[in-house]
Amino acid sequence: MRSRRSGPGRGEPGGPVSEPRSPFLTGIFSIGSFVLAGAVFLVLREKAVTVAVTMGLIALVAPILWLLVSAMRPALPDRTCPSCNRESLRLLVPGVREGVRCPACGFQDAEFYVPYLIDVDDALDEEDKAKAAS
Ligand SMILES: [Zn+2]
Repeated sequence: MRSRRSGPGRGEPGGPVSEPRSPFLTGIFSIGSFVLAGAVFLVLREKAVTVAVTMGLIALVAPILWLLVSAMRPALPDRTCPSCNRESLRLLVPGVREGVRCPACGFQDAEFYVPYLIDVDDALDEEDKAKAAS
């Protein structure tokens, strides 16, 4: 698979090297987070049961919610053209899964497969017709 980035990224050989943090700043952040945690504890000490129940509910409900959202969200195709990098890929032949064309730059590949592209291609046709009509 082709990478969209041009140069090497952080952590890769030849990539940018991050400056090491100064021990002074690291110490300040550590002490600051301890002070913040202590302050939150002192403020919420009286409502410990409410806080615990709320956090427990979040820990219980959040994964279920995440699962539902992930399962119900429709899968969208990656329509990025490998030639011009615009999001314009369409099916080469309507109703056939393999084969794409790019109306923007003229790219065509009869064996290129884009998952889920067939599911949105008809809607894209109607979108084009609506644009042409207006
Ligand atoms: Zn293109």
